[in-house]
Amino acid sequence: MDADTRERQRLQARQEAARLTAEGVRAVALGWVDNAGVSRVKTIPTTRLADAAHHGIGASPVFDVFTSEDAVTSSPHSGGPDGDLRLFPDLDRLTVLAAQPGWAWAPVDRYDQQGEPHPGCQRLFARRMAERAAAAGLDLRMGFETEWIVDPAGDGPAYGLTRVVERSDYLRDLYDALAAQRLEVLQIHPEYTPGQFEVSTVPADPVRAADEVVLVRETVRAVSLRHGLRASFAPSFTAGHVGNGCHLHLSAAGLLSGGDGPYGITAAGEAFLAGVLGELPALLAVGAPSPASYLRLEPSRWAGVYRCWGLENREAALRFIADEANPNAELKPFDAAANPYLLVGAVIAAGLAGSGVLPPPVAGDPAGRGGQERLPVSLTEAADRFEESAVLREAFGEVLHGAVLAVRRAEAERFAKSEPQEIAEATRWRW
Ligand code: GLU
Ligand code: MG
Repeated sequence: MDADTRERQRLQARQEAARLTAEGVRAVALGWVDNAGVSRVKTIPTTRLADAAHHGIGASPVFDVFTSEDAVTSSPHSGGPDGDLRLFPDLDRLTVLAAQPGWAWAPVDRYDQQGEPHPGCQRLFARRMAERAAAAGLDLRMGFETEWIVDPAGDGPAYGLTRVVERSDYLRDLYDALAAQRLEVLQIHPEYTPGQFEVSTVPADPVRAADEVVLVRETVRAVSLRHGLRASFAPSFTAGHVGNGCHLHLSAAGLLSGGDGPYGITAAGEAFLAGVLGELPALLAVGAPSPASYLRLEPSRWAGVYRCWGLENREAALRFIADEANPNAELKPFDAAANPYLLVGAVIAAGLAGSGVLPPPVAGDPAGRGGQERLPVSLTEAADRFEESAVLREAFGEVLHGAVLAVRRAEAERFAKSEPQEIAEATRWRW
């Protein structure tokens, strides 16, 4: 980051800090998401914001090899007590937190002491991939669906109005908080599992979509706590039950409609989706990164565990939605243990590497039918695919690829001998 940019950021931050102070904001949470999908943070008084925007805030690079349980592993490039990075807040995303009075939040990008981009920075990786997509002429829009389970669950049935009645003050406060933070909600509804809800937001550019899902999650958490509830975003709250997904929708103008392919998909759209489908086993190590993810990934639970696509088929990993106003593709196997920056970047890399046409679409539940390929059934299997993926290795770069792989291997080993319910309990409150 050059001196001019830093000086500009200092001036912008000075103005922002004055505005925040006038609004009663005393502290700013500067957040990033590690390779285990955990949101980590440094906080500063609002009075230090201009300084942080100019010099960055110090943080150890060892967070690149933290596991979801805060154990520290290592990779060929990362680990150990040495070194320091600088965290630079993205002032364009600075948000006053509606459910945490006196607080604001901003995501950070991580640079080294010389001002060079840290090769392990997940958000800069997402930005690089978004720039690749833009250079290829794609104006990609992405959006995450956030599912969570509140504890205590209440009694209302799946998708039941009772559940909304039981939690109407809570859900109203959540709507208010999201709106105050300029997060545009598409819908909130009760989901299948007891106490489960889902919120989806308007699609945005890939980096913004990742920022927003982080902010949505922390907002749900904060509003829940103010109502005496705990919110779990874990892939498997109770082993053997339907879990929490975090599906990713993607679209781009002129990509998924108006073409000669199936359902009007264009040739470029088919190539992109074929690329994603091709890399999906490796992408699972990014989008379903915990041993708990594989408790959720069971057939016939709308989690999309078969490597196929279909028109509005909720059991296909890739569900094509032929909505006239917004034709889009939904990737279902992913969950909220994923680092959303890594995930959007990895999906873009896979899509851009794609070519050719899609296989025939699949209708109906592929379970028990034979002939359909299951996606990896364990974190170890997904990590093997990720290790072998030349596409993802090139896109991530050795440092980031190595750190992600090391964290996956450490998590798989930690739970290698654990019973499913032990895994669910150990990971229930980690994300
Ligand atoms: N809860 C399901 C999952 O684990 C998803 C349900 C839905 O299709 O929204 O992904
Ligand atoms: Mg859902």
